Amino acid sequence: MIAPAPQNDPIGIYIHIPYCARICPYCDFNVYARKQSQFGDYVDALLAEIDQMAEQQGHRSVATVFIGGGTPSILPANDHQRIMDRLNSRFLIHDDAEITMEANPEGLEAEYLRTIRSTGINRLSIGVQTQRKHGLKVLGRAHKPETPVSGIAAARDAGFDNLSLDFIFGWPEQTLEDWEQDLEFLLQTNPEHASMYSLIIEPNTPYQTAVNRGILVPVDDDAVSEMYQRTVERMAAAGWDHYEISNWARTPELRSRHNMIYWRNAEYIALGAGAHGHLDGQRYHNVLLPETYIETVMSGRLPIVESETIDEATAIAETMMLGLRLIQDGVSDAAFLDRHGRSIRSVYGATIDYLESIGMVEWSGDALRLTNAGLLIANEVAERFLDPEIEPERAHF
Ligand code: SF4
Repeated sequence: MIAPAPQNDPIGIYIHIPYCARICPYCDFNVYARKQSQFGDYVDALLAEIDQMAEQQGHRSVATVFIGGGTPSILPANDHQRIMDRLNSRFLIHDDAEITMEANPEGLEAEYLRTIRSTGINRLSIGVQTQRKHGLKVLGRAHKPETPVSGIAAARDAGFDNLSLDFIFGWPEQTLEDWEQDLEFLLQTNPEHASMYSLIIEPNTPYQTAVNRGILVPVDDDAVSEMYQRTVERMAAAGWDHYEISNWARTPELRSRHNMIYWRNAEYIALGAGAHGHLDGQRYHNVLLPETYIETVMSGRLPIVESETIDEATAIAETMMLGLRLIQDGVSDAAFLDRHGRSIRSVYGATIDYLESIGMVEWSGDALRLTNAGLLIANEVAERFLDPEIEPERAHF
């Protein structure tokens, strides 16, 4: 049973590459387009930040590295080599560490991927999003349906035996049949891992403006829910391990080890502009703008702009809210007791009684987890654990 991680477990490292070839209209990440001339300076700053962070944390062993974005595959392979060399020289990276790079399908060519693989990066997370031509258009993506096919083949040829594919469902105009065809593509492609998220219309994005003006009509909630249920059923029928609300692995050994660090409420270093970290009982984030980030780090200062000490009540709530996302493992009571000094029931007894009585959570051995019904409204259920004092009868579903 997965436990909330003790504080002395190996850590993960997240590195943010805040650049994309163009900005997708639904994206609200910290990303910038048309900044190629800045790449070299940004990587220089990342190396300097690795040095700064290693002075404090270089003694910690590192089980996972995740190079995310943005589009990390937009960087020249040589820049990834520089980053990996510096990490290896400054941190105790495990020999069998999971080292992931996010990539968009365009630009995944054989020589580039072979060099990337030789840096020690051993896992790619590829943003396919959809194989439906009209879906790529609606999502404002730059690639064509054939692009991921050739990119995945090139990745296999380059020696990547651990691929994760990202898909989005619930985009405007998408039908259930569209989504079923994407699921079939995924299963035929047979990657090691898949992440499938429903589209969220985020505030202050071109998508929200288009929705407000009636130019785009979002898929209604019932249709999105049906797509999710179909996903759960189809992936189960194909024998996949549905281990987190939005994540599936071909076998339990192929679960995303880096993301498991997040869901176990464990610690990770964050490097790069706008990156968020969790270290020594604090959550922190770096300055957003790459220009300011570069200037700050290169003048010898840490780029952290905000940090918050996690008090015990918050740590407990985070352990529950994040751990319940692990739909099979849930949150182990023994591990909770070990980490927080109290049993789950002693903190959340009334909340659990109520949620059990309406069929949203269940005990499996010593672990509390979501039921199938709870999975469909997982966020609402998890929010019940935000505040242990809340009167459970007031919960609305
Ligand atoms: S590729 Fe990803 S990170 Fe970049 S703009 Fe599109 S959604 Fe955002």
